[in-house]
Amino acid sequence: MAADKKGRHIKGTKKQLPDGWITGAFRYAIFPTDEQKQCLEMAFGCERKVYNEYVAGLYDHLEAVGFSGGFLTYRVPNYTTITQRYDFLDRSTDSFVYNDAKIRFQAAIKKYNETYGTRPLHYKKSVQKKMKAGYVPSLQDVKGLPKFHSKKQGGFSYTTNQTNGNIRIEPRDGATFLRIPKFPEGIPVRLHRELPADGLVKKVTLKREGTRYLASISVDYPFEKAPLKETVLAANMTALDYSQSGLYVDSDGKKAGYPRFHELIGKRQRRLNKSLARMKERAMKDENGQPVYSKNYRQTVVHYQKTMAKAANQRNDFLHKRSHQITNDYDAIVVEDLDLTNLAQCLKLGKKLHDNGFGMFRGMLKYKAERKGKHYIVADRFFPSSKLCSACGHKKERLRLSERTYACESCHAELDRDHNAALNLKNYGIHALLDTGFLADPVSN
Ligand SMILES: [Zn+2]
Repeated sequence: MAADKKGRHIKGTKKQLPDGWITGAFRYAIFPTDEQKQCLEMAFGCERKVYNEYVAGLYDHLEAVGFSGGFLTYRVPNYTTITQRYDFLDRSTDSFVYNDAKIRFQAAIKKYNETYGTRPLHYKKSVQKKMKAGYVPSLQDVKGLPKFHSKKQGGFSYTTNQTNGNIRIEPRDGATFLRIPKFPEGIPVRLHRELPADGLVKKVTLKREGTRYLASISVDYPFEKAPLKETVLAANMTALDYSQSGLYVDSDGKKAGYPRFHELIGKRQRRLNKSLARMKERAMKDENGQPVYSKNYRQTVVHYQKTMAKAANQRNDFLHKRSHQITNDYDAIVVEDLDLTNLAQCLKLGKKLHDNGFGMFRGMLKYKAERKGKHYIVADRFFPSSKLCSACGHKKERLRLSERTYACESCHAELDRDHNAALNLKNYGIHALLDTGFLADPVSN
């Protein structure tokens, strides 16, 4: 294991963190000079170029072998085979940028194999529709395959890794600077909160969201768990049942009151997308047939990115505040064991489910609970939280997703489906704490 005699984590050998250590990401606003901005933009562009070259190489390979779905075997070439082909991808950029493209590409292939590795080729619904009208799909249309990164969505980031202290925070002349490879003078950073004192910086992701530049610093650090609260009253417990329409319903029947951030901006997003597509169509072409984008187009792109970033930030903010509140108010929190990717596919919820951020929310609840000595209980995957009657324990054999009310055949109790499930989860948690001796005796209290 990568720890020295004193149990300290050894740098650069990360595979497994020592006990009690976690990896956290700390986001800071950075304020690059105009020159630094150019440098960053070039790095973003290089990353995207190398990534797209990887994708192009993959498509060539798949076409050559006549890929028809199933597990994808592909030897990912080293990035030098790509960078050597282009003059502008010279050594002036941090080589981690290229390595980063490779890592992201490998991750995309892995993700494809995990999700679609055992299935036949699958196309998006919109593509299927076009196919009925005679459209011949390309590899670009295959669901789950790595796609070209467009200049519009994402792709304005790269990650650089720590080697021998090349990443550090430096106070100088009353300001704070982030030192990373290729920026020896440091980029001004606003350190609105300190990095963990005993932490080790592993990598930094630089990105641009609209017009803002950010650095997300990944740090391994010893995580202080508070000792678990020894006695818990059932009254100070809560359970959260995942709800498709509003994040969760708790065991008191209260809904999360979760604003559907992505839906709120959905309209604006669609409108911007449309006008971008129109501008692209009308754009002049250069001698290579590539569109020459107008200033207006570029500004709209920035506007689009800002809108998307704002929605994501609002959502994260909401999730942070709410998980903070719940872990303050209760001594034990019970959630169900959900495989969210699986669920999204089973229920065909897809995008909706991912917008919801429940997975992220659970992660926040877990670490916040641990930090405060609260119990975070995950119900067994096979616990039938929706099918049981929370009043009498009767189990329904079938419960359709469309049945929004749980009506018990045995005791005739009737209540909201999600509320019923949350109550069952709470009961599950009560039993779990009883078994481990953490539940306070209700009589003596
Ligand atoms: Zn019942």
